[in-house]
Amino acid sequence: MGISYIALGSNMGDREKNLKDALEHIAALPRTKIIKSSSIYETEPVGEPKQRPFYNAVVKIETALDPERLLQKLQETEAAFGRVRREKWGPRTLDLDILLYDQQIIATDKLTVPHPLMAERTFVLEPLVEIDPETYHPVLEKTAAELLRELMDKNV
Ligand code: ATP
Ligand code: MG
Ligand code: MG
Repeated sequence: MGISYIALGSNMGDREKNLKDALEHIAALPRTKIIKSSSIYETEPVGEPKQRPFYNAVVKIETALDPERLLQKLQETEAAFGRVRREKWGPRTLDLDILLYDQQIIATDKLTVPHPLMAERTFVLEPLVEIDPETYHPVLEKTAAELLRELMDKNV
């Protein structure tokens, strides 16, 4: 069994319902259970294109799916929410990103773990720290709490 942290984001439609329904989808994945989920955070979108604020959350799961299978299942879930892949970083009903998977370091065409931008995103680190401040980033070799503190220091 692996432990993984998934970042959820939505800025189209009923954003809160999208996140709550997505949690149920994740809980229903084969041989997967939710261990903890964060509160929902509202985040102003960065850069272009202009769009509504995001609702973001992070969930900790235990799963027998390997990282590639997990990504595939998460992408099926995104598709089930009617996500249409248009421009990168454009509006979306649901985005599901794998932040961490155990202490694995993965770099393939389809999958980069830890997620390459997680240390630069308050909307990822805040909910992650809420549920597991001591979670360790195997590449940066710091805990989630340390990464968040550094990011806040950088942003003042
Ligand atoms: P960002 O990665 O900056 O958050 P995004 O989530 O908007 O951008 P998507 O359009 O959801 O990007 O995904 C683009 C591709 O990223 C996917 O097809 C997937 O193969 C790839 N990908 C690589 N690493 C990951 C990961 N850790 N979690 C989810 N998708 C990933
Ligand atoms: Mg994303
Ligand atoms: Mg994504």
